Amino acid sequence: MMTCRHYIFLLTSGQLEQATYADRLNAWQHRLICSRCRAFTKNDAKLDDLLTAYRERLMTPMPKDGSD
Ligand SMILES: [Zn+2]
Repeated sequence: MMTCRHYIFLLTSGQLEQATYADRLNAWQHRLICSRCRAFTKNDAKLDDLLTAYRERLMTPMPKDGSD
């Protein structure tokens, strides 16, 4: 059984993406039975979206102000 600490560690370190099939299955099972980690995963995904949106905004060139 995967512990919350192990699950959160895998998730926040990004290792869940490259984890073995067994680890990902364990993580998935843990999410099913653990509402805390389920909520945390949702918040983490939201945070990811926010960061992506923020990064995209930074990449967008500033509009010209027309003073030249
Ligand atoms: Zn948990």
